[in-house]
Amino acid sequence: MEILTMNKGCDASFIEAVKQESGQDPAQCYQCGNCTAGCPYTFAYDIPVNQIMRLLQAGQKERILKSKSLWLCATCESCTTRCPQGIDVALIMDVLRHMARREGHASVKNVKTFYDGFLESVKRHGRVFEVGVAANYNLKTGRFWTGADLAPKALSMGKLEFRPHEIKGREEITRIFRRHLQREEAGK
Ligand code: SF4
Ligand code: SF4
Repeated sequence: MEILTMNKGCDASFIEAVKQESGQDPAQCYQCGNCTAGCPYTFAYDIPVNQIMRLLQAGQKERILKSKSLWLCATCESCTTRCPQGIDVALIMDVLRHMARREGHASVKNVKTFYDGFLESVKRHGRVFEVGVAANYNLKTGRFWTGADLAPKALSMGKLEFRPHEIKGREEITRIFRRHLQREEAGK
């Protein structure tokens, strides 16, 4: 785990952008550490979540957006539930991860590969096609046997299909993705 240092000047526009996108006010954080104490991934983070909040208050954009923690966060919302200031910390982590993606940072590439494959599957079929997502992930990351031990059990329980389900409203979902892409391109 890194030692918290603030080696760059405060980027006030970054703080403002996070406030706008999340609807949260990072200045309300008084560093009690409850979020980090309850976070199941503190052991794996390079920067614990309360320190992400501190860096955010100090406008340390680059340090945050290059952090592995953003990509390891499981969005479990334990931090949000525990925050005595009522800050939706999990939402802030989400917003930061989106910002990191937009700026071309993905410090844990395998996680981004999984997210991309998952979203592509939903876009294409209207819902996730698990076998396709797993195969895509395993091929792209070279982790050929990831999850292979779980497949027989999932198959016997009828949880896996070898063909994607085409749902009603697939076109509508494609349109949602298209609209999102247009908004991203327009920088909204
Ligand atoms: S949402 Fe993310 S940061 Fe918050 S407790 Fe869960 S894993 Fe940790
Ligand atoms: S729980 Fe809330 S107030 Fe405490 S350190 Fe985390 S974000 Fe800050």
